[in-house]
Amino acid sequence: MSNAYDLIVIGSGPGGYIAAIRASQLGMKVAVVEREHLAGICSNWGCIPTKALLRTADVMHTATHAKDYGLVLEGAMKPDIKAIVARSRGIAARMNNGVGFLFKKNKVDIIWGEAKITKPGEIVVGKSTKPVVQPQGPVPKNTLGEGTYTAKHIIIATGARPRALPGIEPDGKLIWTYFEAMKPEEMPKSLLVMGSGAIGIEFASFYRTMGVDVTVVEIMKQVMPVEDEEISAFAKKQFDKQGMKILLEAKVAKVEKGANSITATIEKKDGSVEKITADRMISAVGVQANIEGIGLEAVGVKTDRGFIVIDGYGKTNVPGIYAIGDVAGPPMLAHKAEHEAVVCVEKIAGVPNVHATDKNKIPGCTYCNPQVASVGLTEAKAKAEGRDIRVGRFSFAANGKAVALGEDQGLVKTIFDKKTGELIGAHMVGAEVTELIQGFVVAMNLETTEEDLMHTIFPHPTISETMKESVLDAYGKVLNA
Ligand SMILES: Cc1cc2nc3c(=O)[nH]c(=O)nc-3n(C[C@H](O)[C@H](O)[C@H](O)COP(=O)(O)OP(=O)(O)OC[C@H]3O[C@@H](n4cnc5c(N)ncnc54)[C@H](O)[C@@H]3O)c2cc1C
Repeated sequence: MSNAYDLIVIGSGPGGYIAAIRASQLGMKVAVVEREHLAGICSNWGCIPTKALLRTADVMHTATHAKDYGLVLEGAMKPDIKAIVARSRGIAARMNNGVGFLFKKNKVDIIWGEAKITKPGEIVVGKSTKPVVQPQGPVPKNTLGEGTYTAKHIIIATGARPRALPGIEPDGKLIWTYFEAMKPEEMPKSLLVMGSGAIGIEFASFYRTMGVDVTVVEIMKQVMPVEDEEISAFAKKQFDKQGMKILLEAKVAKVEKGANSITATIEKKDGSVEKITADRMISAVGVQANIEGIGLEAVGVKTDRGFIVIDGYGKTNVPGIYAIGDVAGPPMLAHKAEHEAVVCVEKIAGVPNVHATDKNKIPGCTYCNPQVASVGLTEAKAKAEGRDIRVGRFSFAANGKAVALGEDQGLVKTIFDKKTGELIGAHMVGAEVTELIQGFVVAMNLETTEEDLMHTIFPHPTISETMKESVLDAYGKVLNA
């Protein structure tokens, strides 16, 4: 078989595998080099297995509140961590196999191993530095291995890995990254989570619901620092009520390891110091891009602050070399990687009217309890940009469906440009907001104004009605509050 391709993609995460499929659909001869597992971090160690764990937490939460729904649940319910992890790992494996099936269907070749670009248009694949997890079931017959391959175009989609703070490096036993947090052998009694971004707070939420004594330490003045301040404060109140201990404007300065526990020294903004002992600690201080060892220096691909520099179409400064997904910078989200993949490949193929990725319209979702979802500018950012704005709010407490579901703790906040009426930001906290936010994403993509939204009929009874009421509130027309 010839080693020459139209496109070779390095990495089979949501960026890489979507790029390969779209390229194949557009008639290119495509291969993907993967060193570990099909479907990348997202399906194996990120988005999907965490959502499986959080689903268990949802069921546990609902079951422990059975009485509120008029149900008598006899006997104590307790988590079986081995079964919970087995379910989550099984779902991850199913996703991984699914990508194998899609590659077969779309005639995408898999090259197993570690890829390095040696010159524009050439990749050398060496022995993998990671244990390869072959998918079960239908994989392309023509899987390839070590060797030299050529391609007219190369897309780098090598993703990211956990960031470590010097002196507080994860050891996989007492200090976990998301890898160990995803498959604990036993449930810790107490847990310290360093960092309250999406990854940290999702694990904090899962373990707290499982009955673990959870402390979250966040250096910024709010949990989930990228979210709107009001939404973060609302979510924090719920976490407080659930018994999560949250220290804001506080820093883990030192960690001492015991035989089966850690003791962290926490420095607070007011100068006080607190020592916290916990069975385990999760380091969730962000991720860093996998830019090393892939030949970027040899071919002169530009990086900035640890990420590959690209334009809105994934092009690097070197002709024929592109980058997408986590390796090409924030937001580090699977749907951003997938969108960049399609934009990049369609641009390469010369598809007409391809739009550059607009980072202002990428939604962000956090699946803690309560869920948080947003798109566009926060109130603080809109003000910092000097925008004249109108802000609307609506509480779940005044929504019939939310009350009927027993989920009346939530808030929707919408931000409009006062001059044009354009929706420039939407922020939500509460049940199922990660499903609802897409309504506002579509609206923003269509450059919708308040008038369009007010003329839109939302079904009753649904939690989505809070979205319309928030818009009405921004214009002094709210009906149910
Ligand atoms: C715990 C957790 C939860 C998350 N939850 C969400 C969520 O709910 N929603 C969301 O949108 N995002 C979530 N994310 C982020 C999401 O997983 C990433 O944004 C996404 O996986 C990025 O996709 P990617 O294709 O850029 O890279 P990755 O998914 O990281 O894939 C990169 C692939 O490249 C391979 N690779 C790397 N170097 C080489 C090489 N030299 N040769 C060959 N192969 C190589 C790797 O093995 C890997 O398979 C989560 C992440 C984590 C860690």
